Amino acid sequence: MYCRKCGTQNDDNAYKCVRCSELLQAVALKQIDNNLVLAIFVTILCCLPLGVVGIVHAAQVNAKAQAGDIAGAEESARKARTWSLWALGIGLAGFTVYALIAIGATIAETR
Ligand SMILES: [Zn+2]
Repeated sequence: MYCRKCGTQNDDNAYKCVRCSELLQAVALKQIDNNLVLAIFVTILCCLPLGVVGIVHAAQVNAKAQAGDIAGAEESARKARTWSLWALGIGLAGFTVYALIAIGATIAETR
């Protein structure tokens, strides 16, 4: 891509112009999925503490991307996703255990 400030051709993946350091990646900001929706979803449905950690990381994605820290933004997005998936997994495991106990109690009562 070409720098809109000085016209220098840069690598397509470059986020700063090699010549004038103009930020090139208005595009890159939108490409990073901050996983905020997933984090909020699991916080409400499953496992609050882990989901909140996911939300904190997700919130850092846009701030870092806007500061030009694309690698940092991607790292935060990855962490947000990891924490959210852990929250989801633990939430589902907890729900399964609870359901099994409830079913077991119901069967015990009917006998
Ligand atoms: Zn430039």
